[in-house]
Amino acid sequence: MRKNIVAGNWKMNTTVPEGIKLAQEVSQAVKAAGELKCDVIVGVPFPHLVPVCQALSGGPVAVAAENCADHDKGAYTGEVSAAMVASTGAQYVILGHSERRGYYNESIEMLKTKVDLALASGLRVIFCCGESLEERKAGTHFEVIKNELVGSLFHLSAEAFGQVVIAYEPIWAIGTGETATADQAEEIHAFIRQLVAEKYGAVVANDTTILYGGSCKPSNAPELFAKPDIDGGLIGGASLKAADFMGIVTAF
Ligand code: PEP
Repeated sequence: MRKNIVAGNWKMNTTVPEGIKLAQEVSQAVKAAGELKCDVIVGVPFPHLVPVCQALSGGPVAVAAENCADHDKGAYTGEVSAAMVASTGAQYVILGHSERRGYYNESIEMLKTKVDLALASGLRVIFCCGESLEERKAGTHFEVIKNELVGSLFHLSAEAFGQVVIAYEPIWAIGTGETATADQAEEIHAFIRQLVAEKYGAVVANDTTILYGGSCKPSNAPELFAKPDIDGGLIGGASLKAADFMGIVTAF
């Protein structure tokens, strides 16, 4: 049966000391909370990976990078490879976030390469997809999401696909305070699960964790997480305060 997951995406926030402190606060709160109905991940900037992995080592909270390079090694100044990320102790990498697609021109084809490199390095992938407001208004959101998944993920074997978590993040809901309604989110999650079922079969589809992301907070998480195809959240702004993040973690 699939896992519920709540994953933070700190984006370009916190210095290293601030990040270590936040990670420790989250870890302590998760330990104090006892048995949870979800796995907990913090997605942190590159310089934070080593110290945060060290601080959380052996504990209940896993660590994700927010990106990795589309080459395995070599003359790519400033880039960080999937193997480098894996060597820090991080278990996950977030790929395809709309901020990376939008600001850094990450294409479907480039993301396919990143996914392959991440999986080859032993990382699990949190793969983001989602439509813009214009695309939703034009009614093309189903097609946009399908293209993103088919183009970057559906070349994978079923075994490799099993290492992927999908995050549906409508771009119009990210950092805007505007959340997709639970029904709107569930409609897309069910659509994504159906696509996975058509490609990989019902068993794989049932085992696939699909997260919602977009202005998720303690007040709206319970309604979102109560939906049958919403298996947790990818959390931006509300992951920067341990108490807010824990309010979401405990929402199941
Ligand atoms: C995100 O960036 O992944 C995200 C969901 O952000 P926020 O929660 O701030 O909308």
